[in-house]
Amino acid sequence: MIIPIRCFGCGKPTAHLWEKYNEELKKGKSPKEVLDKIGMERYCCRSLFLGHIDLLETIAKFKKG
Ligand SMILES: [Zn+2]
Repeated sequence: MIIPIRCFGCGKPTAHLWEKYNEELKKGKSPKEVLDKIGMERYCCRSLFLGHIDLLETIAKFKKG
């Protein structure tokens, strides 16, 4: 998986948070809950992670098709 090293909007480093984000999701937590927990407070950062998941799902659909 490829995630931008820094947020496009504010420059906050995101790479290490991305790993933690996925770990927490695997435990069954909601994306919103995890974003709050790891300190992704700005909408630019949150949309970066949330948008990345949407993109992966889209790619998965293409692979299946
Ligand atoms: Zn940001």
